[in-house]
Amino acid sequence: MPQESRKAVEMLSVETCHNELSNCPNVLMETAKWKRALLQWAEEADISKRLRMRVSGNKILYHHRIRISVSGCPNCCSKPQIADFGIVGYVSPAVNTDTCTICGACRDVCPDTAITVKNAPPLFDRNKCQGCVKCREICPNGSIVLMDPGVRLLVGGKLGRHPRLAQVIGEFDDLDVVVQRIGQIVEEYIECANSAERFADFWIRTHY
Ligand code: SF4
Ligand code: SF4
Ligand code: SF4
Repeated sequence: MPQESRKAVEMLSVETCHNELSNCPNVLMETAKWKRALLQWAEEADISKRLRMRVSGNKILYHHRIRISVSGCPNCCSKPQIADFGIVGYVSPAVNTDTCTICGACRDVCPDTAITVKNAPPLFDRNKCQGCVKCREICPNGSIVLMDPGVRLLVGGKLGRHPRLAQVIGEFDDLDVVVQRIGQIVEEYIECANSAERFADFWIRTHY
């Protein structure tokens, strides 16, 4: 439903998964901190007002707004794949070859078939690995260690008439860098998008 153009209609929203409410054991990042930083950037850059100025008329439609979705782990409960921007916590596994007995348990448990174990310690396919920590949990020898968590930044997801999943544009370990990158992209959108062009359509048109 269209919303009246009143001051309280925020044009940018930041949602997180409910890891804090559910005390989720999978969480890899402090999602509330990321949300605060993003909202602070949006306020300081006056993003809501500037996005509102792109819309002629008095009705704000769902796709006029920009939605940022933050998920604390690759399970993606907040649906970052269909948001304009998605931020997803992940970790990268690595193996201590001195203690690995090449049992294959990590390969068998991996939900993303990212691990190969033949006659040598596991190899991880970085393109497949979602950073979910299951391999570390199953390893009987404690041979799998996790690198410091990072986040993947996804851009350009949408539903509607022509749905599309957001694509990963990079992996980062610094909150400020991610906020800055999102800020640059939103500035490009505000300055360069055609009138009435929704964000995901602008992103696809200018990057694919
Ligand atoms: S996305 Fe991950 S951390 Fe967040 S609630 Fe879902 S399982 Fe937990
Ligand atoms: S589960 Fe552990 S011990 Fe077994 S292959 Fe994987 S890393 Fe090696
Ligand atoms: S972290 Fe998860 S996705 Fe990555 S290799 Fe281990 S089990 Fe597979």
